[in-house]
Amino acid sequence: MDATRRQFLSSGLLTGLGLGAAVAGAGSAGLLWSCQSSPETVFAPPSPAILALGILPRARWAKQGPLSPDMSPMGVVRHITVHHDGLETDFTDFDKTAQRLESIRQFHTGTLPQAVEQRNWADIGYHFVIDRAGRIWEGRSLRHQGAHVKDWNASNLGISCLGNFDTQHPAPAQLAALSAAIRAFSEHFQVPPANLHTHREWPSNTLCPGTHLQRKMVMFRQTGRMDLTSDAA
Ligand SMILES: [Zn+2]
Repeated sequence: MDATRRQFLSSGLLTGLGLGAAVAGAGSAGLLWSCQSSPETVFAPPSPAILALGILPRARWAKQGPLSPDMSPMGVVRHITVHHDGLETDFTDFDKTAQRLESIRQFHTGTLPQAVEQRNWADIGYHFVIDRAGRIWEGRSLRHQGAHVKDWNASNLGISCLGNFDTQHPAPAQLAALSAAIRAFSEHFQVPPANLHTHREWPSNTLCPGTHLQRKMVMFRQTGRMDLTSDAA
């Protein structure tokens, strides 16, 4: 998240637009748009650890596929970068989470109704999103470069955690899922610990992924273990 996004979020527009109605029907009932692939297919073949993540395909939440087929190919994954979406989150409900993902996609693609400042990207910027229940959702297909670190998206896998970790703490289930995802992806793509980043560690004007998740990530990289306890306890 960067300054523009922060400004947008602080305006409260995202929650004030009635986006729940815009994606009515999102959820466990069925697919919102036709998609032949599963997230696992991009791993060719997926490792048992990746299969164990139970990644939810984007067809479970997205109202639309990518707006353009001309996204740059991902190529070899060499980096992993962790983000937060910057919007305080207290829910774990499946449908609400699907709605949040759809609103992020609309914001990133410039299709959010009435919002003043939006992105103009072909699709949601992150490859994966992790909610407070520990579900891992597919975002942009890993076949394509993401849009999550300005000028540094090549070979960079982007994971975002729902929440604002400047003002709240990541949930234990969310941290456990993040840890499992980083381990599985790192092993599969042979990404060394030195290439595990948070957004603020790249040359960019952002505090993402927030103080509390940043602290967890620094410790995780130092010790190889994710501290699942809440700092607020
Ligand atoms: Zn970020």
